[in-house]
Amino acid sequence: ASHMAVSLEGARMIKRLEELATTDGLTGLLNKRAMLDVAEHKIAAAKRFSRKLAVLVTDIDHFKKVNDTHGHDVGDIIIKGLGDILRRAKRTTDSVARFGGEEFVVICEETDEHGALLLAERIRTELESTTFFGTAEGAQQVIKVTCSIGVATFPRAGTSWDALFKAADTALYASKQGGRNRTTVFAPQKGERAA
Ligand code: GH3
Ligand code: MG
Ligand code: MG
Repeated sequence: ASHMAVSLEGARMIKRLEELATTDGLTGLLNKRAMLDVAEHKIAAAKRFSRKLAVLVTDIDHFKKVNDTHGHDVGDIIIKGLGDILRRAKRTTDSVARFGGEEFVVICEETDEHGALLLAERIRTELESTTFFGTAEGAQQVIKVTCSIGVATFPRAGTSWDALFKAADTALYASKQGGRNRTTVFAPQKGERAA
């Protein structure tokens, strides 16, 4: 029995190490490296079975100002808050990762542009209506933040991870340029072929 206890403990340890290697410490979501693995698998499956796939990229608006005004720790709480919103919004077949500082990526299986837009708008409006709290100049302050989102779908916007991510990022950039706090779905330019 004691040998069994040792091997069980070892198995738990290995599982924990795997979790640490694939998880983002702040949000508990996938980290970038793990998401790249997931993306390769999902794109391969989408190709093999001619399935749809959607990629969402989110970026918090004017986040540097939030950090500058309320401090990095409050910034972290807001990042965690958006992580929670994404976790609640996701279906079991979606994968969510913190991809960089205040940027997240969602990959949705069997999802077309319409479905991805609905999900993105659900995420965006949820963050918009969330209230965070911080202190600035010694006083309690209510903090509101918004995010911009870019959406790209397989195979229309691309058939490789690099092409899909680039397309979603281009759409995100358009959301920023268009005034922020909005979602843009990537549409290939006339005559432009998806890579
Ligand atoms: P934009 O609307 O154009 O996105 O403006 P922005 O200020 O959000 O610009 P950008 O996305 O380029 O900058 C992200 C900022 O997020 C930079 C940095 O101050 C902050 N940041 C990045 N990682 C973290 C983090 O882990 N924690 C906290 N608190 N802040 C972070
Ligand atoms: Mg950013
Ligand atoms: Mg930002």
